[in-house]
Amino acid sequence: MRELTELRTEFPILQQHVNGYPLIYLDNAATTQKPEAVINTINHYYRTTNANVHRASHCLSARATHAFEDARDTVRRFLHASHTDEIIWTRGATEAINLVAQSWGGNTLKTGDEVLISAMEHHANIVPWQQICHATGAALKVIPVNGNGELDKVAFRQQLGAQTRLLSICHVSNVIGTINPVHDMIRDAHAVGAKVLIDGSQAVAHFPVDVQALDCDFYLFSGHKAYGPTGIGVLYGKRELLQAMPPWQTGGEMVEQVSFSGTTFTPPPFRFEAGTPNVVGALGLATALDFLMACDPQQLRVHEQGMLTLATDGLNQIPGLTIIGTAQEKTAVLSFVMDTLHHQDIGTLLDLQGIAVRTGHHCAMPLMSALKRPGTIRASMALYNTEAEIETFINAVSTLQKETQSLGTEPRPRSPAKRLPKAFTHETELAAESLLNELQALRSWQERYRHIMMLGKRLPTLPDSMRFEEHRLHGCESAVWFQHHYDKTAMRLYFSIDSDARIVRGLITLILSALNGRTPEEIAAFDMDAYFEALRLMNHLSPSRGNGLRAIVKEIQLTAHRYR
Ligand code: PMP
Repeated sequence: MRELTELRTEFPILQQHVNGYPLIYLDNAATTQKPEAVINTINHYYRTTNANVHRASHCLSARATHAFEDARDTVRRFLHASHTDEIIWTRGATEAINLVAQSWGGNTLKTGDEVLISAMEHHANIVPWQQICHATGAALKVIPVNGNGELDKVAFRQQLGAQTRLLSICHVSNVIGTINPVHDMIRDAHAVGAKVLIDGSQAVAHFPVDVQALDCDFYLFSGHKAYGPTGIGVLYGKRELLQAMPPWQTGGEMVEQVSFSGTTFTPPPFRFEAGTPNVVGALGLATALDFLMACDPQQLRVHEQGMLTLATDGLNQIPGLTIIGTAQEKTAVLSFVMDTLHHQDIGTLLDLQGIAVRTGHHCAMPLMSALKRPGTIRASMALYNTEAEIETFINAVSTLQKETQSLGTEPRPRSPAKRLPKAFTHETELAAESLLNELQALRSWQERYRHIMMLGKRLPTLPDSMRFEEHRLHGCESAVWFQHHYDKTAMRLYFSIDSDARIVRGLITLILSALNGRTPEEIAAFDMDAYFEALRLMNHLSPSRGNGLRAIVKEIQLTAHRYR
């Protein structure tokens, strides 16, 4: 067994500085970083072994095939499955669930049947079932989640019945870290004759999983969340179930005999692996799983739970901060919201200090609806995170809270609208040039962002009655409402744009100061990139930023085109 403290140095990416600060990577539920051993496996494979598997008669192909099938056996050991042919390679968790939905679901479900999922599922464990239920006439039922973020056990037992064909739930929630009591739930589902699929995407990197002890029918995960490469995942299925399932994708590698009068298919696992597989991905994943199996699970648990406790206690001290999801059994995943700052603002401000967290709905919109939150900030930990990093993170969040408190609360919209907001009727008093000077004079990012947030306060707030769906601009993580007015006499365009995120409001103010009250020609000719470059805010225009600034600029310029 390896000492956990030694392992951090094996992750080259963690030595990096981001935005001038040592990287603190707390987005492990989205994807984990990769140890040197995995990177070396990929490199070594392409330098020494690369060939297609299962076909050619030459040495390299035989070597690649052996390595590929050995990797499958590593996964079998990792999940403690009985047979190697119960392990199917997929592109990831999403593809594994789609495989079961299409092949098993398409072949089994019919009107009157029910598929039971939970309100805390990732979209990947909702949409494939919604689709196949729609196609087969089966009904989709949902186990509710209580206020702590735990599944409602009473409702679950009531929902189970002879009509339940499948229970499909996550082992661990990707949003709030709840560890579901899957062992008992599998037993209860089997008692009514249902099959059970467990989405282990957020589980396998944190504690050992034994599919035989669980007695689940299907278990799956993505490699990239368990220190392996992207583009590779695993579906485990009980042998007799897989043998009875038809192929879902067809082509090479999965056939025995092909003629124009018909085709016969290979047995599992190859029946479900049409086309050339991700050989290097499988090898990389096997290396990652060997790496994980070399860690003491008890030590891993103590370390991750220690960080969870530290983060929970630290964040609970911050006024106006609410932790979302307080289940008894949790992995080291912490979701929270703050009264004074939008989750997207927090994500941006933490990123400026080298702290990577995830913000938004985390691909679990129904859970967000159940929790009545549009999104959260999620910090998710891995074996290489340290208590010192967690302390830095807590201090950073606490400082943000203090700083925003001194900025005051956002002006809340008045409802209903008595008058059109100011920005609609005349040019804002903010001249682009003076804003440029103001921002350029500020050296530190803290001062610049504070200033941007202050600018946002000068933006007229749209009343509630105008903040409705029709005016929502999509492509932004925060809510953005957009309206325009064309003054025919003056031939000038006026915009009224609002957002629920402070930084976005500030950035909108910058845009409007340059474009509000201009002619359509002036707007069309405006070079937004140069403007943001001059403001040294270019990174806010990147599509990955999630603030949708580009979408706002695009909408302004499209509007201008309509009046030219
Ligand atoms: N299920 C859960 C619980 C997840 O967290 C994720 C990824 N966030 C998925 C499924 C989908 O994984 P992938 O995108 O790798 O297919």
